[in-house]
Amino acid sequence: MPSNDKCLFCRIAAGEIPAKKVHEDADVVAFHDINPQAPTHVLVIPRKHIPSLDDLTEGDAATIGTTIVRASQIARELRLHDDGYRLIVNNGEGAGQTVFHIHVHVLGGRDFGWPPG
Ligand code: AMP
Ligand code: ZN
Repeated sequence: MPSNDKCLFCRIAAGEIPAKKVHEDADVVAFHDINPQAPTHVLVIPRKHIPSLDDLTEGDAATIGTTIVRASQIARELRLHDDGYRLIVNNGEGAGQTVFHIHVHVLGGRDFGWPPG
């Protein structure tokens, strides 16, 4: 699943749909969420089209690892680490997933409750 021309996030990664990008490299793209749930709300996606956690195989370990490492680097660049921040992956409609291209939400700039809603 290298890329899917019907997938919103593949199209953002390809530059076909505009987004407020904060980072891009050969492996991942990061951009501001269009409907932010915190003062800072960035999505980090692998360029590879993987619909959800349910589709992961052992061969995706490096892709997912890189995505989380980049998320932590972006959080640091945005100075979220001083007060703490949260990474979230919604998996499946029941958990709130609406875009079926794996993405890590990076949320920061406010207090977060636990357990999450
Ligand atoms: P999820 O509900 O976990 O699948 O997250 C999908 C996220 O994508 C939501 O937080 C949406 O607000 C966000 N989103 C949807 N369309 C766009 C877009 N065109 N640009 C940026 N973020 C988007
Ligand atoms: Zn995709």
